[in-house]
Amino acid sequence: MLSYRHSFHAGNFADLLKHLTLHYLLDYLNRKDKPWFYLDTHAGAGLYSLKSASAEKTGEYQDGIQRLLGAEPKHPLLQAFRQQVLSLNTKPSELYYPGSPLLASLMMRPQDRMQLHELHPQDHRLLSSHLQNKARVRIQQSDGFAALKASLPPPERRGLILMDPPYELKEDYQRVIQAVQEGVKRFATGTYAIWYPVLQRQQTESWIRQFSNAGLPSLLRLEHCPLPDSSGFGMTGSGMLIINPPWSLAQDFKTLMPELNQLLQQGKPGTFCIEQSGNI
Ligand code: SAM
Repeated sequence: MLSYRHSFHAGNFADLLKHLTLHYLLDYLNRKDKPWFYLDTHAGAGLYSLKSASAEKTGEYQDGIQRLLGAEPKHPLLQAFRQQVLSLNTKPSELYYPGSPLLASLMMRPQDRMQLHELHPQDHRLLSSHLQNKARVRIQQSDGFAALKASLPPPERRGLILMDPPYELKEDYQRVIQAVQEGVKRFATGTYAIWYPVLQRQQTESWIRQFSNAGLPSLLRLEHCPLPDSSGFGMTGSGMLIINPPWSLAQDFKTLMPELNQLLQQGKPGTFCIEQSGNI
């Protein structure tokens, strides 16, 4: 039974880190003309109205994208991403936020290709309607974890795999590691970007240790926590684990993270880290 719906969380602080990373990685792939393949294993609905009852119920976007839209950011990536969200919003009465597949579709070129997996029937329907006119986009209502084994390596030999499970099932944590191992076995040079929540610090660290001991290639950890660690149940932060990151990513995020952290501050200043494998 799938109960998670991303419409409650779209545009929150965790989406910002994830989508800024995604924007960076696709922009990097776009520096060469050679085609790329994008695999989104947990695609969601693709586009979210932040004026919807679900978004308004949690109000999470107010401590996320709303802050960025109301700011004049200095970092070029924050500026570019802000502009991208603004380009979807032409009427003052609306506020739309792009999910990962739509963001990727805005950045894809005629030679590129995307494959999207979404299990939830309603979100699968919404995703299909938001991307129905896009060429070279394949949408499947099937398990995204299995897609790494089934669809890699891509003939393009250049690609990005975004893995963004809801972690509503405990086994998702182990399935992520197993799926990435399967993927890397088939497509060792691909870039893999895996999102994770920070809920309970000890559990997060123990899972990341397992991940970094799983025999995978060079790994970069980006993490941003607007809230202090807590023994409660809420999400205090989130991170991205990136396998085979572009060499410039860590350097560029060293200037981005302090600005992002300040922008998304809730009460006391938050924390962030940028760690390369070996130091994780
Ligand atoms: N990646 C999206 C974005 O950034 O806009 C958000 C995805 S949301 C966090 C996770 C999605 O994964 C949910 O829509 C959920 O229905 C879907 N899902 C859960 N388990 C799945 C699975 N095994 N395969 C494919 N989709 C799954």
